[in-house]
Amino acid sequence: MAEDTLFSQIIRGDIPSDQVYQDELVTAFRDISPQAPTHILIVPNKVIPTINDVTEEDEPVLGHLFIIAAKIAKEQGIADDGYRLIVNCNRHGGQEVFHLHMHLVGGHPLGPMLMR
Ligand code: 5GP
Repeated sequence: MAEDTLFSQIIRGDIPSDQVYQDELVTAFRDISPQAPTHILIVPNKVIPTINDVTEEDEPVLGHLFIIAAKIAKEQGIADDGYRLIVNCNRHGGQEVFHLHMHLVGGHPLGPMLMR
């Protein structure tokens, strides 16, 4: 059985979240500590711990993450102004939850991509 994660519990509804989307492949919910006016996490329902663990088998779900990110951005009214998609990996990437996820952030100008 795949490792259970905080996000698996949110996906199952065992831990409450402000869910904005769910289908058979991915679930999206608002980040508990938003870093911008819109900050939504889009998470494969299947546990993939980090980008390093991705296999060819995951290609459909990873492509789907982008499709759903674009759909949600449009629904949230931030598509035309623009937004940022972020996937952190491991310690240097600042990853805190080891269940691969995409951050969708926007709603105001986000500034330079990286802090120097
Ligand atoms: P990472 O640093 O792993 O890329 O991002 C993890 C994100 O999960 C963080 O932005 C953090 O605020 C968010 N997060 C952590 N715990 C919870 C939670 O219980 N609920 C929700 N909705 N977000 C969480």
